[in-house]
Amino acid sequence: MEKPIRVRYAPSPTGFLHIGGARSALFNYLFAKHHGGTFVFRVEDTDIERNVVGGEESQLNDLIWLGILPDESPAKPNPKYAPYRQTERLDTYHQYAQWLLEKGYAYECYCSEEELQASRDAQMANGIAAPQYDRHCLHLTAEQKAKYIAEGRKPCLRLRIQDHHDIAFDDLVRGPVHFNNDDIGDWVIVKSNGIPTYNFAVVIDDHLMEITHVFRGEEHLSNTPKQIQLYEYFGWDIPRFGHMTIIVNEHGKKLSKRDHDILQFMSQYRELGFLPEAIFNFILLLGWTPSDNQEFFTMSSAIAAFEESRMSASPSMFDPNKMMWMNNHYIRQLDDATFLKFIKPFIARLTDISGKDDAWVLFLGNLFKEQMRFGAEIVELAKPLFTPLEVNDPESLEVLALPTTTPVIEAFAKQVEAMNDFENETVKAAFKAVQTALGVKGKPLYMPIRLKLTGIPHGVEIVNIVKLLGKEEVLRRLRG
Ligand code: GLU
Repeated sequence: MEKPIRVRYAPSPTGFLHIGGARSALFNYLFAKHHGGTFVFRVEDTDIERNVVGGEESQLNDLIWLGILPDESPAKPNPKYAPYRQTERLDTYHQYAQWLLEKGYAYECYCSEEELQASRDAQMANGIAAPQYDRHCLHLTAEQKAKYIAEGRKPCLRLRIQDHHDIAFDDLVRGPVHFNNDDIGDWVIVKSNGIPTYNFAVVIDDHLMEITHVFRGEEHLSNTPKQIQLYEYFGWDIPRFGHMTIIVNEHGKKLSKRDHDILQFMSQYRELGFLPEAIFNFILLLGWTPSDNQEFFTMSSAIAAFEESRMSASPSMFDPNKMMWMNNHYIRQLDDATFLKFIKPFIARLTDISGKDDAWVLFLGNLFKEQMRFGAEIVELAKPLFTPLEVNDPESLEVLALPTTTPVIEAFAKQVEAMNDFENETVKAAFKAVQTALGVKGKPLYMPIRLKLTGIPHGVEIVNIVKLLGKEEVLRRLRG
């Protein structure tokens, strides 16, 4: 009988959820859900010095925000597989390490960092480009070990890999992949402080948690033969692996977490007012192509359409403009209540809204809803409405210098003074009255008013500016 499908996303809580991590999580999730399987969130926290406070929590929250909902996690354990944090599973790793040691598949290594370095240097001096552990400790006698221990040395454990052994597997994304152990060397499975290394712990966990498929970033490809060697020693079923291609920027360079020009963390997108539906949809197309070039997906339509065979084997280009275009699409779809909730915090950054009702906030938001690419953009777009810009372009200055300008502004101000509402018809009638009284129409009529109100010669319709600012403020600006 086929084993039930179980996949996992296993971040190290050494930082916050990155676009690459979110993509790994998403594809594992889609694969699981498409096939009716289980998605596990496991925490690989053995690199203790690099863990950051709140890393686990924020990664999980960001996944949930994206709609990627773990079936199992530290907070939602299945007793059969718990615990889900590696630092809570240390005894388990030690038991398996002990077994490897007893079978002769692992051995204690007492070499110091300096000795290891000296060995590497010597190999390089002999023309070996990729030095490996020289197996100095493979056959230590009891006396030699006792001597090292007396010196206060603490051993790590190394895996004794099979010599000249071929490791091949059929990658779900890349097709057949082939390695040879001669290029690998005996690697450390448990550090001298008793903490297992990633490549060791991950195998124990994936096996005990009955993980059947692993989708992860290409940077883990070279780890896979190490992990497969362990599966072979233990005699365990090997999961199917799929290594997703790198994400590159517009210049074809691998996206680096240190590249501060490109936003890469979910928290940054959330902060700027990207919608989870948009980010999800964008990430979905970052490494996967639907059969019919469909562009917009909900989580459930993506689950239904997902086929692992359509994951791309060439690098995926991260195009920030496409992401913003997609976000704009989803912003425009929001109904009034959702849009209000979304936009309110950004409008609060723009101006004091304590005395304003929701209708006012929504009215302002709607003025920019069509063009807005992300929520925080409204702060820039709407700024002139709250802090008029200084007029300095030649065309506007010319209009302000027209002999008709001062009379037009004063006549319009008088009309505003007399208004009891700011309906479109009322404001239109006011312009008409000014036009009739002064014989001025078109640009010399509208532009001076607009410039007085916002400082910019184009943009939001005057009637909307008037509605938004209210009588008192409009008069203050016209006469200021
Ligand atoms: N903790 C690893 C990482 O964050 C997980 C790798 C894996 O999926 O095996 O890269």
